[in-house]
Amino acid sequence: MEYRYLGNSGLKISAITYGNWLTHGSQVENDVAAQCVRAALDNGITTFDTADVYANTKAETVLGEALKGERRQSLEIFTKVYWPTGPGGPNDSGLSRKHIMESIDGSLSRLQTDYVDLYQAHRFDTETPLEETMQAFADVVRAGKALYIGVSEWTADQIRAGHALARELGIGLISSQPQYSMLWRVIEGEVVPACRELGVGQIVWSPIAQGVLSGKYLPGQQPPEGSRATDTKGGANMISRFMDDDVLTRVQALKPIADDLGLSMAQLAVAWVLQNDNVSAALVGASRPEQVAENVKASGVRIQPDVLKQIDEALGDVVVRDPAKTAENAPARRPG
Ligand code: NDP
Repeated sequence: MEYRYLGNSGLKISAITYGNWLTHGSQVENDVAAQCVRAALDNGITTFDTADVYANTKAETVLGEALKGERRQSLEIFTKVYWPTGPGGPNDSGLSRKHIMESIDGSLSRLQTDYVDLYQAHRFDTETPLEETMQAFADVVRAGKALYIGVSEWTADQIRAGHALARELGIGLISSQPQYSMLWRVIEGEVVPACRELGVGQIVWSPIAQGVLSGKYLPGQQPPEGSRATDTKGGANMISRFMDDDVLTRVQALKPIADDLGLSMAQLAVAWVLQNDNVSAALVGASRPEQVAENVKASGVRIQPDVLKQIDEALGDVVVRDPAKTAENAPARRPG
């Protein structure tokens, strides 16, 4: 496993990081969740990502149980705040001081730890003054409940503004967590250049496009049994954005490229995001331990420029590049 610095901080994280969205506390049973975490640890993954909203707080509980007994100093545990949790009252979402201060305590208790390594704003809150949010994050850091601060799906301008305030407050805003894959490249135009300049690293989600880039979904055919596209608890809805015959046909054209490199298609997808020097980690999910064991082999793979070109030609115009999609991925108003 390769370990990379998270942005320009001194924190090292595993280049392949394990996340539990849609799986723990929902799609997969707790024993399988624990097996996936075990497979991650056995394969050199030290960094784990969750959020209070995943399975309405259950995912944090499952991860906390699965990591129980591990040496805390050998792990990097990340969580997030913003989306509605609990009964969905007026202060159960967003980035107000009240919600941040209350949420961090809930997360720490479910994760069975005294601190998280990274506390992330899951989206930008258009209704709370950014100064209030960053002051609350600074207080969470000073209380020792989080070591660093990160953001998720913020635009380049929002990251610049948050980073400037964090600097004034003497805390590190060191990471951005956007969607990034061979199919979804919207951060390349604005977010990545801004983050390079600021020393903010990307922890990129859905590098396998939720399983689509593994090549297992074939155009015109029913999705395989047990896959995310059949998960009626939420997965099928989330993956639907990629379940399009044009996309699935183009994805099949990646198979010979992966074969030539001796990689599975999922490994090619994970390796591809790691070629970007602003990417600190590929944040992968798994519904079974074998997937974790397969995907970690993407660590350390170098893809030559001529192969990157072949990938672009194979995917053609199904690649999404419009930087405006970052803002579209976040609600215009605070939900809840
Ligand atoms: P991936 O693109 O890695 O998709 C993971 C899913 O793909 C697995 O659960 C599995 O689903 C399938 N899969 C994985 N490996 C293989 C393989 N080798 N062969 C076949 N199928 C495979 O990422 P996710 O979409 O799961 O997201 C990863 C993490 O990113 C999340 O857990 C979360 O931590 C973070 N995230 C953050 C968001 C944010 O807003 N900040 C939003 C979304 C995710 P199955 O077997 O069920 O088909």
